[in-house]
Parts: sequence; C-alpha cells; structure tokens
Amino acid sequence: MQRNTLLDELALRPLCCDGAMGTQLFARGLTSGACGMLWNIERPGDVGGIHLTFRDAGCDIITTNSFRGTRFALEVHGMVNRCVELNRAAATVARAAVGDHGWVLGDVGPFGDFLEPLGDVSAEELQAAFQTQIYALLDGGVDAILVETMSDPAEAVVGVHAAKACDPAMPVIVSYAYQKTGSGEFRTMMGTSVSDAVGRAVAAGADIVGANCGTALSLDDYVDLAGQLVTAAGHARVIVQPNAGSPQIENGLTVYRATPEEMAATTLRLLDAGVRIVGGCCGTTPAHLAAMSRVIRGA
Ligand SMILES: [Zn+2]
Repeated sequence: MQRNTLLDELALRPLCCDGAMGTQLFARGLTSGACGMLWNIERPGDVGGIHLTFRDAGCDIITTNSFRGTRFALEVHGMVNRCVELNRAAATVARAAVGDHGWVLGDVGPFGDFLEPLGDVSAEELQAAFQTQIYALLDGGVDAILVETMSDPAEAVVGVHAAKACDPAMPVIVSYAYQKTGSGEFRTMMGTSVSDAVGRAVAAGADIVGANCGTALSLDDYVDLAGQLVTAAGHARVIVQPNAGSPQIENGLTVYRATPEEMAATTLRLLDAGVRIVGGCCGTTPAHLAAMSRVIRGA
C-alpha cells in the first residue's frame, strides 16, 4: 500500500497521535530508575505490543520509545556506547508494529541539562549528539522527527537543525511543554512565550509545532493554549498532546484522572481551534486514545 507523506496526509485530514509510553512500560514491569530504552532490545515484544495497542485504539501516528535517547541522557544508565543500537531498535520495533498502516515519529526528548552559558554543553556538541540519535532513528525507518517536551527554544532549534542536517526532506515537529504564570500567560519552563517559542522553531525549519505535557495545565488550559499556538504557527501545522487533565497527588503519587470522555470532548475543542494532530501525554492510555481517535475520524 502506498502511504502519503505525513504532511500530505495532514493536508487531507486531522490525525491522531498515540499516548504515554512510560505509563505502559511501568504497567508491564519497568522499574523506576531503569532504562526504558533497553526494552527496545531486551523486550521488543512488550514495546511493540504497546505500539500495537495504540494502533488498535485508532492512532494514526506512533512515537518511538526513545525519549531519553541522546548520549547525554543515556549517560545516567551507563549506556552511551549503545546509543545508536538503542535508537535504531526503537525505530525498527515501532515500524514493525504499524507496518504501512501508520506513520512513525522518531522521538527526541530534552538532553537533560542546560546549554551554554547556563550549562557546560555547547550547541555544536548538542547538535552532534542529536544527529547521532536521529541518524539511528532514520536508519530504523521513521517517517518524521518529533523534538518534544522542550523548554529552551535554543535546544529546540538545535534539534531542528540536527534533523534537517540528517535529511533535509524529513518533516520535523517541535513540541514545547508550557506552564501557566500567575498572570495567566503560557510560558515554557525557561520563561519563553508562545509566540517566541513557536516563532523560533518555525524560523529554524520546523514543519509542525505545538505543545505536549506541561505543568499543572487543565484541559481548558490546553484549549486556550491551542488557540495561541495556531495563531503563532502561521503556515505550520499544529500538534497538541495534553496530559490526562491536571495532575493530582494521591498517596504520594502523581495521578491523572481525566476520563476518556473528557479527553474526547477536549479533542473536539482542539480540532475546532485549528489543531491538526491530537495525541496524549502523561496519564493517557489506549482507552483515552480510542475515544479521542473516534472524534478525530469523525471530524
Ligand atoms: Zn507528559
């Protein structure tokens, strides 16, 4: 079956991305502090099974299990020398799970520290690290690169440059995590406004921009934020992947309690605001995504 490119398909219809990978890995026995990316090689059946449950829930787009996949993030687990192998396996497992029935995003998360001058890592060093990760993801067969949960626009821009250096034709998505200030403005953790954050990503060459996760945002907040993202994005498409409502602390654990019905209602409002890809972040399960994908297919 000949599949459209992600951008061509988006011109035709809105698409549903998947939900939280971490939650599903923990449900299958990953212990906190362990390296979830190792499962791409040691337990590919579990990782592929998670991708399949999202695909079967109606998700058009699947995200690789490679969020902490730069050499900087893998250092914590002593796995720097397995960076290429772990990322390539993340892509291979996701591609095998969805076949030609969907698009695979190569997931690139924050490297985990600050760029110079706040930190010790230069933009050149970070771009080299991103490129190593992204080459491996491309080698494993992804359709686009997702630079996500960004706080620092400088880091996001390096991510776009790295992806375009690996393959100038590869679509790149930049997604920031926002919080709401006391005065009701949305800002990244680094204090960047929506228009600055989006503007810098688009200027760097991002094809799709948006938001995921965030700090204590309500479902209404995500809808408000979506309107601002669509305005700031101009010609670029917009993706929003909310958490399953605001986090609550129960017995010392952070939990997300929005129901599939609430997420479905929010999905409709996000589409109405002009969002073109809706998925889920923390706390979103295949049940949430099944309800959300039904709304997206009916849109
Ligand atoms: Zn999240």
